[in-house]
Amino acid sequence: MSAKLIDGKAFAAGLRARVADKAGQLKSAHGITPGLAVILVGEDPASAVYVRNKGKAAHEAGLRSFDIQHPDTLSEDALLSQITELNGDASVNGILVQMPLPKHIDPARIIAAIDPLKDVDGFHPLNAGRLLSGEYGVDHGLVACTPSGCMMLIKDILGEDISRKDAIVVGRSNIVGKPMAQLLLQESCTVTMAHSRSQDLPALCRRADILVAAVGRAEMIRGDWIKEGATIIDVGINRIQNADGKAKLCGDVAFAEALRVAGAITPVPGGVGPMTIACLMRNTLVASALQAGLDQPDI
Ligand code: NDP
Repeated sequence: MSAKLIDGKAFAAGLRARVADKAGQLKSAHGITPGLAVILVGEDPASAVYVRNKGKAAHEAGLRSFDIQHPDTLSEDALLSQITELNGDASVNGILVQMPLPKHIDPARIIAAIDPLKDVDGFHPLNAGRLLSGEYGVDHGLVACTPSGCMMLIKDILGEDISRKDAIVVGRSNIVGKPMAQLLLQESCTVTMAHSRSQDLPALCRRADILVAAVGRAEMIRGDWIKEGATIIDVGINRIQNADGKAKLCGDVAFAEALRVAGAITPVPGGVGPMTIACLMRNTLVASALQAGLDQPDI
């Protein structure tokens, strides 16, 4: 048996095209062009690549993009006042501060300063709470981009009704693991959240029909941890060296082993990564509709 490959790149391209279509409608019906401001503090090369990709995707989806770059000496107060300014700028509908921030800046203070209606990352405590209470979900409101993208891929593979499935999320970060577990719970899955203190992780994983790995440890989840036919969503992005010394990307799941057991699996790269950016575009569109008092666009 060989698992079906989940083509996140193709799915994300379709989602971005739907966003572009809705953005065109928003412009012709209401004169609104959604605007996304992305703030990068410092010169982390990986972050700079993400920011460039976000700007490009925004442009292609017909959104306005404002790229703001600061040196890593920027003070927390200066960043906070810029956020206050963007909160009050009607041409900016979404604000994203690229993480990680330099050590002298407290990310929690920065996230809390963003207007929740412009919080396209879905990290603001109010939006995280709205997800927890069920007010927000994968089809409505501002929900963290990576878990939203994972859920879209899961539903694309397994269909709309995933209730009663056993799901495990390995990793409990605020940006991936926790919101992912909430989305699965909303769909009436039985959800296990695993982390670095979980006991007998292989046994916990083996029970899961749906396994989402968001750890940041190259190929930690082995083929014999996977239930036959399970759907595997690999969020991890790890840089490792090939035998020939060349750098390559890999996920948290031992891909070649998993391919022989799983029912479907996302590759790294080309799985979850493109979905994160596409969901950011979607959230920017949703944010601009919410700010204009319009119904949530159906994308
Ligand atoms: P964090 O470092 O914030 O969280 C990692 C989680 O993994 C923690 O909850 C930690 O547990 C858990 N963990 C660490 N070691 C183990 C272990 N041995 N067994 C079980 N659990 C373990 O990472 P993120 O959530 O930010 O990111 C996770 C991965 O996803 C990274 O590779 C990141 O690059 C990638 N990523 C990819 C995105 C994409 O678009 N594809 C977007 C965001 C992230 P504990 O809490 O106990 O410490």
